[in-house]
Amino acid sequence: MQLPGFEYLEPRNLDEALDMLGEHGAEGAVLAGGTDLIVRMKQRLQTPRFLLSLKHLNELDYIREDTGCLLIGAATPLARIIDDANVRARLPAFHTAVSAIGARSIQHVRGTLGGNLCQDNRCRFYNQSAFFRSTRQACHKAGGTICYAREGSDRCRSTCQSDGAPALMALGAAVTLRGAGSERTIPVKELYTAVGDAPLSLHSSELLTEISIPLPGPGVGSAYRRLTFRAAIDYPLVSAAAYVRLGDGHIDEARIVVGAIGSGPLFLVTASNGLQGKQSTDEKALSAAAGMAGSSAGAFIVDNLNADMEYRTAMIPVLVSRALRGALAAAGA
Ligand SMILES: Cc1cc2nc3c(=O)[nH]c(=O)nc-3n(C[C@H](O)[C@H](O)[C@H](O)COP(=O)(O)OP(=O)(O)OC[C@H]3O[C@@H](n4cnc5c(N)ncnc54)[C@H](O)[C@@H]3O)c2cc1C
Ligand code: SF4
Repeated sequence: MQLPGFEYLEPRNLDEALDMLGEHGAEGAVLAGGTDLIVRMKQRLQTPRFLLSLKHLNELDYIREDTGCLLIGAATPLARIIDDANVRARLPAFHTAVSAIGARSIQHVRGTLGGNLCQDNRCRFYNQSAFFRSTRQACHKAGGTICYAREGSDRCRSTCQSDGAPALMALGAAVTLRGAGSERTIPVKELYTAVGDAPLSLHSSELLTEISIPLPGPGVGSAYRRLTFRAAIDYPLVSAAAYVRLGDGHIDEARIVVGAIGSGPLFLVTASNGLQGKQSTDEKALSAAAGMAGSSAGAFIVDNLNADMEYRTAMIPVLVSRALRGALAAAGA
């Protein structure tokens, strides 16, 4: 499959990139590793007039610790994050999530964290060749008025399958978005709109420049678990991230996030809050939280990935339970 035509922009530094994005962002796309974007361009799902490459922006390739947070430049390759000692030892949910993305070749050669968080939502009726799509009516995401994943749906319900997003959301991470003359830092959960055909709150003139993750103190643990058909080169069919903070044998705070089910990662507030004050060994409370997470997240599922919807629904509490137990173990419970 050939790429459509485009004008290639290669800024030499961040300021130049932000100026170019201000001028061409509305008709352009940011090219980081290209492992998501190039596939979509070949499928004619996106045909930007300009491609703005981050190739020379070494300013966005770093991992450093600052005032209790780990700061990661958006163009940092996934492989570097996986090999980072701090990520490995202190942020297990994030480490597991990034290690699960695609395959070593994607992590090593090209894929970046910024690209992982900004990748488009997916759907098996949409992420297809132009030829496949030409044989049927356009759905909401392709500019039409119907949805193949849920009959009668008045909107797109494509799925956010990023592995990094639920893990970072559970860890309370934030992202910095910069434009020419503007800068805002928002929690990761605000980056996602939960709107299938416009899943990011990022403006076309903005670049995601940095991800900031609070480094946990003692008694804090996190874990990420996902369901896939294969161990590598497979997007998650369901995923769950959990974060717990323990105090005196009790759970002081818990955060449960379910991925690959809704149009954005789902932060399950009621299930998370239900664990507050419970003993870390309280099996009944853990099962109740997993069950509640299953019914809350299950309400968002549609039949648009390559696995049976009932099976994916049934696996939500299983994955949440595994993530919670992993987080408790990491916290030393
Ligand atoms: C075979 C295969 C398997 C995959 N498996 C997985 C998987 O299991 N889990 C998973 O999460 N992903 C998976 N992916 C998707 C993708 O490879 C990864 O998410 C990767 O991290 C994307 O990073 P990238 O730098 O290549 O992004 P790109 O393709 O360069 O960009 C992705 C999107 O983000 C935008 N973007 C990139 N950087 C920025 C920025 N700094 N600011 C604003 N916008 C930006 C781009 O414009 C584009 O729309 C897979 C891809 C393939 C081809
Ligand atoms: S969820 Fe529906 S509207 Fe969205 S991409 Fe899939 S079929 Fe199209």
